[in-house]
Amino acid sequence: MALDIFLPDEAATIRLSEDMALAVRRGDYIALSGDLGAGKSTFSRALLRAIADDAFLEVPSPTFTLVQSYDLRIPVAHFDLYRIADAAEIDELGFDEALSEGVCLVEWPEKGLGALPAEGIWLTFVHEGDGRRVSIDGPAPALARIRRSLAI
Ligand code: ADP
Ligand code: MG
Repeated sequence: MALDIFLPDEAATIRLSEDMALAVRRGDYIALSGDLGAGKSTFSRALLRAIADDAFLEVPSPTFTLVQSYDLRIPVAHFDLYRIADAAEIDELGFDEALSEGVCLVEWPEKGLGALPAEGIWLTFVHEGDGRRVSIDGPAPALARIRRSLAI
C-alpha cells in the first residue's frame, strides 16, 4: 500500500529525502509529481546532498538543460521535463543509460509518459495548509525498502 506522509515544513521534506537516500538503489526511477512549489526540487536537492554526503553540493535546476548528472556513490541523473517538447527527447537525454548506471530522479514525469518506464517509485506532493502531503507509491519491494529507511 502507498505511503502517505504529512510534511509540515521544509525541514520535514529534507528529512524524508535523507531517509530515502538510504533506500535508493541503482536502477531506481523516482518520479516526482506535484504543482509548482510543491517541493519537488527541495526533495531532489536534499536527496542529492544526502547521497553525496555533502550539505553544500551545488544542485542547479535542470529546467533548461533538462538533465544534470552527478557522479556520486550511486550515480544520479536529475531530470526536469517541464520544458520538454516531445517525450521522444528523453531517449536523447540518455535516460536508459543513466538508469542502468544509477538512479533517475524525474521532476514533471507527466511530460514524459510513454517514454519513461511504466513502473517506478512515484512521489506525489500536494499543498496542505502551510505544509505539504506526499504519497509514495511503487512496486511492493521498493516500498518496503523505503518504509524501512523511514523507520530508522
Ligand atoms: P517545486 O520544485 O515542486 O516547484 P520547490 O522545491 O521549489 O517546489 O519548493 C517551493 C517552496 O516550498 C520552497 O520555498 C520550499 O522551501 C517550500 N517547501 C518545501 N517543502 C515544504 C513543506 N513540507 N512545507 C512547507 N514548505 C515547503
Ligand atoms: Mg522545481
